[in-house]
Amino acid sequence: MTDSFLHKGLRKKLVDGLRAKGIDNEAILSAIENVPRHFFVDSGFARHAYDDKPFSIGAGQTISQPFTVAFQTQLLDLKKFEKVLEIGTGSGYQTSILVELGAKVYTIERQRELFTKAQAILNEMNYSVYIFLGDGYEGKPMFAPFDKILVTAGAKEIPQKLLEQLAVGGKMVIPVGNSETQEMIVVEKTSPTKYKTEKYGKFSFVPMLQGIEG
Ligand code: SAH
Repeated sequence: MTDSFLHKGLRKKLVDGLRAKGIDNEAILSAIENVPRHFFVDSGFARHAYDDKPFSIGAGQTISQPFTVAFQTQLLDLKKFEKVLEIGTGSGYQTSILVELGAKVYTIERQRELFTKAQAILNEMNYSVYIFLGDGYEGKPMFAPFDKILVTAGAKEIPQKLLEQLAVGGKMVIPVGNSETQEMIVVEKTSPTKYKTEKYGKFSFVPMLQGIEG
């Protein structure tokens, strides 16, 4: 896989576009400028990799639109060295952005085919990430509590086990709704039993499903 001047130029343009759409976190913008998104999409889509669009990544799933990646990451309010659990590794692109921001990343994917692909590419990029094949509804109790939890699939409701695995003072970013549209929600855990939630607009994600597939 090669990263050319052309790709770098396209990434700069993508970043300018995200800035125009209201993303103003410089660390996130430079992470997006650094990560070759074309490594994460099927070669047939490579020339569109820097359009601000979602793409098919196989197994009926999509790589999130760059704006959505930037928006969710901005809401996550990530600090260096924080422990983050991502649900829905998919292509591994969002995972890479979290790693670039200096987080200690744990990520779970339920589709074996995507898990295997993402594991290979994250390895190839020398990113140190804990990647698991599993059901994100279960979280990763062995590694809890997490400072942040990022869910990149649409959930019908906020999964109880994920709330339990969030550190006090921690935040979870999760799209919640039906199979067509979801509301972006930030849950802040204010005490072992208390939560504050805020809404950040409508999005459309593939559904968060139960169990492992493939
Ligand atoms: N963050 C990804 C977005 C992928 S789309 C990226 O940047 O490419 C959402 C992903 O969530 C899909 O790959 C889907 O298989 C996965 N998913 C859905 N339900 C899940 C669950 N319960 N546990 C883990 N992954 C899940």
